Amino acid sequence: MVCAYHCPKGDSIMTDLDRAKDLDAHDPLRSCRSLFEIPRIGGREVVYLTGNSLGLQPKEVRSLIEQELDDWATLGVNAHFEGRDPWKDYHEQFREPLARLVGAEPNEVVAMNSLTVNLHLLMVSFYRPTKDRHVIVIEDNAFPSDSYAVESQIRFHGYPVGDSLVRLKPRPGEQTLRTADILAELDRLGERVALVLLGGVNYLTGQVLDIPRITAAAHRHGSMVGWDLAHAAGNVPLQLHDWGADFAAWCSYKYLNAGPGAIAGAFVHRRHHDADLPRLAGWWSTDPDTRFEMRQEFEPQHSVDAWQISNPPILAMTPLKASLAIFDAVGMDTIRRKSVALTTYMRDLLLARCADRVSILTPSDPAEHGAQLSLVVRGASRLLRDRLEEHGVIADFREPNVIRVAPVPLYVTYSDVWRFVDTLANLLENRD
Ligand SMILES: *Cc1c(COP(=O)(O)O)cnc(C)c1O
Repeated sequence: MVCAYHCPKGDSIMTDLDRAKDLDAHDPLRSCRSLFEIPRIGGREVVYLTGNSLGLQPKEVRSLIEQELDDWATLGVNAHFEGRDPWKDYHEQFREPLARLVGAEPNEVVAMNSLTVNLHLLMVSFYRPTKDRHVIVIEDNAFPSDSYAVESQIRFHGYPVGDSLVRLKPRPGEQTLRTADILAELDRLGERVALVLLGGVNYLTGQVLDIPRITAAAHRHGSMVGWDLAHAAGNVPLQLHDWGADFAAWCSYKYLNAGPGAIAGAFVHRRHHDADLPRLAGWWSTDPDTRFEMRQEFEPQHSVDAWQISNPPILAMTPLKASLAIFDAVGMDTIRRKSVALTTYMRDLLLARCADRVSILTPSDPAEHGAQLSLVVRGASRLLRDRLEEHGVIADFREPNVIRVAPVPLYVTYSDVWRFVDTLANLLENRD
């Protein structure tokens, strides 16, 4: 693979812009960038490093939304059945591409709602606390929404949060979790754990957790395991079915580029589809063959679709169509290959040019990172983010002092990465 980045450390050519241009010229994904709208500042395309927060707009989105607006305008209610992409079964088109994306069987994945809503709906089924088993395990630095969601679930069931929530912390002086420590903690807690709910890729540190090993360990103690894949879907390859996760949920506006507040995704493993689980229901949870007969009897679907409740928001779903077409055309393995090369290139450049001020929280082993690097810049504040933006680099700042940068392989170039590191190095040298 030509795009692989094999520059030995200490090679002076490595920090050269020509080197970046050469890597771009040999990048098998170089044509993908033109599929996206690239924001501009002062007329110049920005270096966009916040695709982990809001992915860029695929150019095709606009015409696809216009198609739905036209069908609505010209057909009205009949577009449910007669539209070019009939709304009645609109969500069906996402099933296969989502299954490929997260490594699931098609009837295990569905596009619905938003992420935290899906976590709640899935916890209705998979967090069933009892007097002896009511603990939920999360990361200490879990995304706040997940933290609030699990705390509210614990309270909803009438248990005290203090006794029921365990937060996994790194060792003192360390920034990320060790798999062995997570497994040891699960062993220690044993059968008190009702649910393990972790981020596949941590939003703050960019660490990828060992989903199959953690899932298997939690199952040995009889607990349920759910994965929040907000930062994993479209970022790292996943095999949810084979890894045996009970459920998972993700949003589609980060690496999946489906737009602000985009429709989210959910996975429920096949073994639970016909299980006797509590579930909140609506007409979209029922068998589509009889749904429109408007019966009183409830006939559930025998798939993850049983967790759907309402008919889906077509206009909010349309961008996902453009986005998944790109993921399908390129393939997650190809995307991941460039991603590892691009992020490794960024790490090496940062260490070569900014090591005196910058340390990197994200693990360096490719098995433990996705696209994102989380940087601590000594002495820097939120102002640094603004300075970068003045120079055409969009990065993200999280309190207290973490700058997150995600070179998303579909639309970020090696030259972009070079420009970011060069800008940062210059700002830091000038104590800007
Ligand atoms: C982005 C993100 C969210 C956002 O939640 P929404 O319900 O989409 O607003 C939640 N959890 C994690 C881990 C995230 O990264």
